[in-house]
Amino acid sequence: MKREVNGVTVECLRGDITAQADVDAVVNAANAELRTGGGVAGAIHRAAGPGLEEEARPLAPISPGEAVITGAHGLSNRHVIHALGPVYGRDHPEGELLADCYRNSLALADENGLDSVAFPAISTGVFGYPVEEAADVAIRTVIEESENLQSVRLVRFVLFGESDLGAHERILRGSA
Ligand code: ADP
Repeated sequence: MKREVNGVTVECLRGDITAQADVDAVVNAANAELRTGGGVAGAIHRAAGPGLEEEARPLAPISPGEAVITGAHGLSNRHVIHALGPVYGRDHPEGELLADCYRNSLALADENGLDSVAFPAISTGVFGYPVEEAADVAIRTVIEESENLQSVRLVRFVLFGESDLGAHERILRGSA
């Protein structure tokens, strides 16, 4: 589903973050060292090839809530934005740190003149953030930030599972 807010299309779909060839940047649910790993980071680094880790390494470590931007290497996008989500129950305040991931990623996309950016559900995998709570933070933050964006016109949430998609769609539908 899609909604337009302040001239920005916000959409949720089921898919793989490494298969979003029509967006300028994909966001990586990164680890602090900006290395490959499991989940989203593993999939992005595998698809991008070793050049991604080589470019990212000097930018590490990053802290929860921070984001950095690199080229996309073997991926069919222009950039990868690497955001480190909070570990649920460990990094506090987790809601604020998760919102920072979305705010900082959108700011980087906008500063780089990008039109479109795709996010996975940051922190909802090995970092343990309950998906309903994370979806609420993610969608609320994107909607809040939409009025500040000059360049970004499409924000896509790419959800791996049907129930994750359902959670995001319910919140996007219900948000003012
Ligand atoms: P984190 O460490 O921030 O929790 P993960 O990569 O473990 O990040 O997972 C974040 C979310 O992304 C989880 O909901 C997971 O199911 C989902 N996910 C895993 N692989 C992909 C992929 N290739 N594309 C989109 N979403 C994915």
